[in-house]
Amino acid sequence: MPHDTPLIATIVAGLGLAFVFGALANRFRIPPLVGYLVAGVLVGPNTPGFVADAGLANELAEIGVILLMFGVGLHFSLKDLLSVRAIAVPGAIVQIGFATALGAGLAWMLGWSMGAGLVFGLALSVASTVVLLRALQERRLIETGRGRIAVGWLIVEDLAMVMALVLLPALAGVLGGQEQTDAHASGLLSLPASYGIWGVVGITLAKVAAFVAVMLVVGRRVIPWILHYVAHTGSRELFRLAVLAIALGVAFGAAKLFGVSLALGAFFAGMIMSESELSHRAAEESLPLRDAFSVLFFVSVGMLFDPFSLISNGWPILATLAIIVIGKSLAAFVIVIAFGYPLATALMISASLAQIGEFSFILAELGVGLKLLPEQGRDLILAGAILSIVLNPLMFLAIDWMKPWLEARAARTAPPVEAKPVGPATEPGQVASVVATANGEDGPPPRTSLTNHAILIGYGRVGSLVGASLKEATLPFLVIEDADKTLARLKADGIETVSGNAANAEVFAAANPEGAKRLILAIPNAFEAGQIVMRARAANPGINVIARAHSDAEVEHLKGLGADTVIMGEREIARGIVEEVLGQKPSATEPSAA
Ligand code: AMP
Repeated sequence: MPHDTPLIATIVAGLGLAFVFGALANRFRIPPLVGYLVAGVLVGPNTPGFVADAGLANELAEIGVILLMFGVGLHFSLKDLLSVRAIAVPGAIVQIGFATALGAGLAWMLGWSMGAGLVFGLALSVASTVVLLRALQERRLIETGRGRIAVGWLIVEDLAMVMALVLLPALAGVLGGQEQTDAHASGLLSLPASYGIWGVVGITLAKVAAFVAVMLVVGRRVIPWILHYVAHTGSRELFRLAVLAIALGVAFGAAKLFGVSLALGAFFAGMIMSESELSHRAAEESLPLRDAFSVLFFVSVGMLFDPFSLISNGWPILATLAIIVIGKSLAAFVIVIAFGYPLATALMISASLAQIGEFSFILAELGVGLKLLPEQGRDLILAGAILSIVLNPLMFLAIDWMKPWLEARAARTAPPVEAKPVGPATEPGQVASVVATANGEDGPPPRTSLTNHAILIGYGRVGSLVGASLKEATLPFLVIEDADKTLARLKADGIETVSGNAANAEVFAAANPEGAKRLILAIPNAFEAGQIVMRARAANPGINVIARAHSDAEVEHLKGLGADTVIMGEREIARGIVEEVLGQKPSATEPSAA
């Protein structure tokens, strides 16, 4: 090689092998993230052959965390965040407390110090942002009530960890470790121990509050202004660059100036951008990098893992894993149920939090650096992380199995709980009514009684116009939608709905495709639409299928799978323009672009 290029080598080896093993995993019907982790183990220092730069891989993974949280922020408003605080704050705190106690108990059994137990327990108590968000995204849960609780919960955990990271160095002396006087690796995060515990807590909280205030007061004005200014230059490239620069800049600034985590900074940047519809869409477009970087997160975790530690540390690893997967989930489950939420919500929150990741590694490193945590502790945390990440998709499968059984039990032992309506933020006392919904969040959606009806999928820019016309013509129809806000609007309009992802077999079946006359696909994703078309054809060969597409290739794809009519959006736009210019309808129905 002409010169040394560790960054390029790390990206190429990481992404290349992740692709190969991800594809292999997929072939064997294992979640691809297992493949990414294996790729990481292979390029890591614990296996022979090429060794990628772990430090670089880690930083690249951090970019993935920033972009993921930025993307989540784009789907959140301040109101959404506040609407889940009544469950997320106590939930996360109680769960952290419980997991920390379990971790400390295991540490005690292993003969470690109290300080070691505290660090170990805390490390087991926080979930990984990347694992959680990807799990929610894959299942299209982010914009549901349950998804919002999970994200709110994650943010509280994130804040708690920021607190732990600043407090540990200050407390190290008291806890039996080595007191640290200089700032540790994460820069300005740590504060001198001389401030005392309460001083450190106070300063940290003040910094977080200052960051939030700066974002809400200054960021809210400056960011939209910059975006509008750039939009007027007419350069798409500059616009995307502005979005990316703001996301990364705010995250980095938040971490360096205010001691807030990168993830939290990025989340706020996204939340502020989401307030304007224009920047929202543009920002979404500029996120394709997100997936690539979040894959590198799994590779970097794999790199840290030493497969041989599994042999030398047998039962402590199993105990660690049990705390993460069973202990934490049970705690979350009990809390969510105690707050009056439906079973499905409790199960989903438990499953999504039953893993650990990046924060745990940072805590473990810090603990070892402060001489609080023995090296064995770090090994256990790493093994626990990798195993819990691998098991996480199985947790989601497990809740699907357990749901019917638990529901049957609940029905036997308690009177049926009335489903609660979806609603915006309410008073703190009224937690239970915030997120529980009457439209299928607590079990498979109920089957419609409609027959000879039309099934309309998606109620966005396209579907809502179609729906309005169907309603006016008094044709029987129902809508399948997965966005909570849209569902609430549908309900207000008195339109029958099935809530959930239409590509999901259970959800689709609830719309009675066998008895339906027509299927109208008003969703933008042609792959999802294709899947639904196939399912509809299988259920009802005679159903009339009308689909939406945005390119000729999509038209072909959907027709090939059995759609009767496919309307290409861009063609219709051209038709409208021609009509406006020439004052007449274009003569043929065939493509005006041909
Ligand atoms: P638009 O592109 O504005 O017409 O919006 C599309 C609408 O379809 C949005 O409201 C989405 O929430 C909804 N949507 C997209 N994909 C699905 C899906 N697989 N299942 C149910 N609803 C969907």
